[in-house]
Amino acid sequence: MLIGVPKEIKNHEYRIGMVPASVRELVQNGHDVIVEKDGGMGIGFSDQDYIAVGASIEAEAATIFAKADMIVKVKEPQAVERAMLREGQILFTYLHLAPDLPQTVDLVASKAVCIAYETVTDTHGGLPLLAPMSEVAGRMAIQAGAQTLEKSNQGSGMLLGGVPGVAPAKVVVIGGGMVGNNAAQMAVGLGADVTILDRNIDVLRSLNIQFGNTAKVIYSTADALESEVLAADLVIGAVLIPGAAAPKLVTKEHIKKMKAGSAIVDVAIDQGGCFETSHATTHQDPTYVVDEVVHYCVANMPGAVARTSTFALNNATLPYIIKLANQGYQAALQNDKGLLNGLNVIAGQLTCESVAIAHDMQF
Ligand code: NAD
Repeated sequence: MLIGVPKEIKNHEYRIGMVPASVRELVQNGHDVIVEKDGGMGIGFSDQDYIAVGASIEAEAATIFAKADMIVKVKEPQAVERAMLREGQILFTYLHLAPDLPQTVDLVASKAVCIAYETVTDTHGGLPLLAPMSEVAGRMAIQAGAQTLEKSNQGSGMLLGGVPGVAPAKVVVIGGGMVGNNAAQMAVGLGADVTILDRNIDVLRSLNIQFGNTAKVIYSTADALESEVLAADLVIGAVLIPGAAAPKLVTKEHIKKMKAGSAIVDVAIDQGGCFETSHATTHQDPTYVVDEVVHYCVANMPGAVARTSTFALNNATLPYIIKLANQGYQAALQNDKGLLNGLNVIAGQLTCESVAIAHDMQF
């Protein structure tokens, strides 16, 4: 199969669909890979790095879209890319079609085979191609929170781990899933005083076994949440209710009563956020202050660490890319029901129920 890897064109997107190590595995499996010139430049891969593992370099995205049997990307195709998709061509990338009608209409019209990373499931019903970005965002949340607490960012001027003789900061993580667990690991590692709140008893049990007495694990009632948040120096918002907007667990009133100079990192902002005072910010201007509480609400946190994020994403996508290339999409989808759940559009038809419902379209 001929696999095409175009350079990402979305604003400030430096990730790429395949790192050279992934290309090498595809080539070893007998496939050909074409990569757009300077495609990996933003994360430190030269065209030579790709050539060294057997890829060819193409100067224009249009050539890649015209030639490749499968396009492997990171972000949803932009309008100019959608116009280049062909009937029967496989597109394997994040799509997030539910809130994006123009993209949905274009992909249906293209008659391409569009498989979305975010709806692929594993045997436990988890989302294996979304998980790596949650790991990255969770770990980054503590880095971002630590900086947000610095005086120059209008924080209280607290060091997360304290020093001998000075108490550490109190970090409260709301939601102990993929993001929250990774945030808690980083906060514990830095020596902070960590509390994790969740509503799922199985999650609480497993967190308790994992963290032992290095973190407190508490059932998330409104009461517990209020007392923990009001005592916190840093609060991480990491809740998810699948398929729904994030619940506004921390209210304006809570924010008013929080300590001056305390900080919040609302990782759930991509689902609307779990703080009533949150609104999405960018890496260029990540924070703002409400009632003396510094808010960090960047909706695409992994983009800031594009190199790590690309490797993490590739580790998860590579087995699927190899499967699609070796077996062809029909057999690959037939043999792996989880991958089949990733199929959003094929032959001019929507195949993802939630997308069809979101746009009131047939599927
Ligand atoms: P997850 O499903 O692994 O974990 C969510 C957890 O929230 C679950 O354990 C659930 O039990 C818990 N929860 C639900 N309601 C709760 C409540 N009332 N109180 C306490 N806990 C509650 O999800 P995840 O992968 O960790 O993702 C968390 C959020 O982070 C999602 O909104 C996701 O979209 C977002 N995210 C954002 C970025 C970013 O760049 N901003 C990147 C990755 C993920």
